Amino acid sequence: MNIRSVEPFILHVPVTSGGISDSTHSISHWGVVGVAIQREDGLTGYGFTGTHAHLASDQLIARCIASCLAPLLLGQDAGDIARLWQTIARNPALQWVGRAGITTLAHAAVDVALWDLKAKAAGQPLWKLLGGQVRDKVRAYNTDIGWLSIPDDALVEGAAVAVQQGFTGIKVKVGSTVERDLRRLGAVRRAIGESITMAIDGNGKWDLATCQRFCSGAQDLDIFWFEEPLWHDDVKGHAQLARSTSIPVALGEQLYTTDAFSEFFAQQAIHWVQPDVTRMAGLTEVLRVCDMASAFRLPVAPHAGEMSQVHVHVSYAHMACTVLEYIPWIQQCFTDPALVVDGYFCLPQVPGAGTTPTVDALARYRQPVV
Ligand code: MG
Repeated sequence: MNIRSVEPFILHVPVTSGGISDSTHSISHWGVVGVAIQREDGLTGYGFTGTHAHLASDQLIARCIASCLAPLLLGQDAGDIARLWQTIARNPALQWVGRAGITTLAHAAVDVALWDLKAKAAGQPLWKLLGGQVRDKVRAYNTDIGWLSIPDDALVEGAAVAVQQGFTGIKVKVGSTVERDLRRLGAVRRAIGESITMAIDGNGKWDLATCQRFCSGAQDLDIFWFEEPLWHDDVKGHAQLARSTSIPVALGEQLYTTDAFSEFFAQQAIHWVQPDVTRMAGLTEVLRVCDMASAFRLPVAPHAGEMSQVHVHVSYAHMACTVLEYIPWIQQCFTDPALVVDGYFCLPQVPGAGTTPTVDALARYRQPVV
């Protein structure tokens, strides 16, 4: 069935408590820059990328979808996902101006929308199209309790509440000073006990020497993984850090391509693999990374740029996926929200990829596409 229309949209959705910060980012809203792709029979698929709700750059992504990608899609068979992926990714003019960045984020939204459309056309939740359910439950870990902007007392209390709610994993942001972060993590570990997994996330802020000093101070805290300890493209530095500490290294949320992951794998610079359908060119490319991780016997924990709306499907269907990030900022915007009950993600039942926005969200959070 051929594609009749390709329409971008932008939503800006408020985050928890009006604003959060990590070592690198401070935001008040999450940007959902998406696309509605409609077939000739009226069936519509939705996909989106995730941003800091910076309207000027969000409009560049929306404009890329409308002006550059839509002409490649209109009149094409919506079911030919692999062919359309190739058409966009290898378009000479687009490739010339961006093998990463805005063109890839726009591509991400389109690819996910095509998967949503395919699943809806099949009358099945996406995970069934991806091979079906490979595990009974997907464990959630809570990131929303651990922002760097949360004061020490509230951080400890939030972690304890998450455990009471059934979470068996949390993630705490680091990247201020080594001393402050170690103090906060020690207090959290004492509050949650030994059985809860505690990951940490530096968001690429520190240099190698600081990371190594932190890691020697954190040896007794049972850190589940150290996420983005160093600058995103620093393969050599991550490899050095991975060799020098027993704390596992996690990364991937800022990597755009399978080639980028491949270099980290080859250099043994990564233990936990964190691809994101909103950062890479959609689900099609993320599945390649998951397969590659399987070959290297490395676990995948997808990054929640889409707040796990799509990744919950991947996590139920792909054998490499183990745990999944929980941040609830935008779940109320979708007709099939990614819900967590007693610390585990619910298995989606509604046909599609979980990306269909509610009428209310489209009315309440919509921003102009110019
Ligand atoms: Mg992160």
